[in-house]
Order: sequence, then C-alpha cells, then structure tokens
Amino acid sequence: MMGRLHLTATEAAAVVLDDGAGDFKVHPKWALVGKVLSPSILHINTITSALRPAWGNPRGLVINPGGDNVFVAEFATKADKDRVVDGPPWVVGKHGVLLREFDVDQRPKDMVFKCLKVWIRIINLPFGYMHRRWGEAIVGPIGMVGSVPLVDCDATGRCWGSYMRVRVEIDVHKPLMRGVTVFSQRLNVTEWFDVQYENLPHYCFSCGILGHGSTECKDPGEREADGRHPYSADRLCTPDDRKKKYSGAKMSSGSASAGQGRSSTPVKEKPSQSHNNGGAPGKPQHTDDYAEVSSPAKDKQRARTKKSKADKSSAKEKLSSQDQGIVGQKRKSQ
Ligand SMILES: [Zn+2]
Repeated sequence: MMGRLHLTATEAAAVVLDDGAGDFKVHPKWALVGKVLSPSILHINTITSALRPAWGNPRGLVINPGGDNVFVAEFATKADKDRVVDGPPWVVGKHGVLLREFDVDQRPKDMVFKCLKVWIRIINLPFGYMHRRWGEAIVGPIGMVGSVPLVDCDATGRCWGSYMRVRVEIDVHKPLMRGVTVFSQRLNVTEWFDVQYENLPHYCFSCGILGHGSTECKDPGEREADGRHPYSADRLCTPDDRKKKYSGAKMSSGSASAGQGRSSTPVKEKPSQSHNNGGAPGKPQHTDDYAEVSSPAKDKQRARTKKSKADKSSAKEKLSSQDQGIVGQKRKSQ
C-alpha cells in the first residue's frame, strides 16, 4: 500500500516510537491467542462464558477480543496457561478452539490458526506395538510435522489397555485420519489400525474437516455402502464422547473400551505414568457438545433463518441414528 502511494512529506516522516528501551509493557507475560472454529461470528461474552468455567475459573483470567472469533486470553500464572494448553480440545458450544502462544509483534489478522492438540487412541494394536517407540512412529502421519507426540505409557515406555493413547497436534484444514496403515518388517505384513479422537469438536462427517457440518460441506465425500458418512462419529469419536454428544442415545453393545471413566475434575490433562487406560484424567465437558452457547449475534441470526434450526435438529437426529447403526438413506439433507 505504502509503496504505491505518493506520500506527502508529512506522511513520509516516521513517527519514532521509543520502544527499544525501558520496560514499557502493557501485555502480561502469560497469554494465549485463540480462535473459535465457528462459521458465524461469536460475541466475546459468549466465548468468555464458555471458556472461563471450562478452564476452571483461573484467578486473574482476562479474555479480550482480537477480531472475528479471535481472542486473547491473559493468565496470572504460567501454570494456568499451561493447563489450558495441555488440556482437551476446548469448545465454545460445539465449536473447537485453536490456541497459539501470544506474541506482541503479531497482528490478529495475520495469524494462522491451524493446529489442534488432541488425544487420539490407536485401537487394537498387538502387544508388540504397545510401546512409546512405536507409538511415536505410528502417529507420524496424523500429527503435525515438528511437534513431538506424547505417548501415554508407563515408566518403561510400555502401554497397557485396549488402545494406545497419544497426544498429537492435527492440522484442522486437512481431513481427520481414520486410521493408520502400518507395515511390519519383521512379519512382512501390512495392517490397518483404527484411530479415535477424544473430545473431538464439531467436524464434518462428510469430508472429515473441522469447523463445519456436513450440511454446509462444499466437498462432501461419498457415503459408504451401509449409508454412513465416510467420517461418521461412530467411527472417529470415542464411545464416551458419543454418549455425551448424543444426549443419552443408546450405545451399541461392545463398542465401549474398558476403563474410560472420566471425572469432572478441572482441566488437568497429563498422561498417567502408570496405566494408560485406567481412566483418563478429568476433562471438563459440556454436557452436550451440540448445545450451542447463546449469544446476541447468534440469536439474531437464528431469528433471521429458521433453516439453521431445522438443520441442527436434523443433524442431531442423524447423529443418534448413526449411533444406533441405522442406515440413513432417506436423510438426504445430510
Ligand atoms: Zn465438509
């Protein structure tokens, strides 16, 4: 812009900021920038009222707006900030929240939000693969390049239970991976292992990308032979999460893995050192991830279009049908 303009002498004369010295400082030391993956613009009060209690009401927490669905969260202590960074995928209503470290030299509009930290479960691995070493390798295609996966294992690196639990950072602009193909040199065998995601926020069952639903999908995938969406929740979400999301919809028997009890204690989310499936550390959950948090902006929008409401209820109906394994041929809206 500046290069194309013929500046007047006054315009071209730089205002000198004395910011190279001294300790002028308006921003706190511990802060995160976040973005809510919602297609509509949410009021900052909506964002705050969802995240503050989910984060355990940390003392000194201040959340300020930073642009469309972007906010800056300031914490009083590093521990509070770290708990949020290491915690489950956070949601406002059903929409996921992407977090980044705060940097005074960044501009909200230029910031790219694409990483979501999430615990995944690799299902039904043979004992020989249930080790940190193989876990880190197996999640390679799922996690972002450069981030180090965190494997939930015991002191010797071994994992126990019916699945291996690994914390990875996923790229929210790419389809979720439904599993991993693993080749064993020792056995000379290639095998597929299903992957499930814990606390997965709103995503598209049709294309597998976060931030929109299948009714708004611009690149829908083909349904499977049984009518299911290619990225259906009964494939990608953990049995516990499916129960919560579908508000008591009945689970098909045999789908629940052992020992997935969760408490509602605040935020702490660290892999246990002793046993991976013996109850994941507590994660605050909205009782119904699909219940929207109301906001003035949203209310207005809802009043304008009744369609969104209809879509939502059909989505809900679809979810519970899917969960019960009912083929949805007649539901053409999704
Ligand atoms: Zn989609």
